[in-house]
Amino acid sequence: MVLLVKIKCPYCGFEGEASEFLYMYEVTLYVVNSRVEREERERPLLVICPKCREGFFLDNPYKCFYSKL
Ligand SMILES: [Zn+2]
Repeated sequence: MVLLVKIKCPYCGFEGEASEFLYMYEVTLYVVNSRVEREERERPLLVICPKCREGFFLDNPYKCFYSKL
C-alpha cells in the first residue's frame, strides 16, 4: 500500500511521507475463557517521528484515514 499523506513532526519539524513514520497503537487485550479478546474501544494512533523519536497524535483528517487501515 502506498501512502501519499505528508506528515509533519510538531517537535523537530521533520516532514515526510506517512510511510516514513512509525506507529504505535495502544490496545488493551482481555483474556476471556483462555482466549484473547480485543477491546472494542477506539484509541488514538500514536505517530512516532523517525528523526527525533517523539510521539504525537494526528489531527482529525488523518485519524479518519488511518482508521481504515
Ligand atoms: Zn520529530
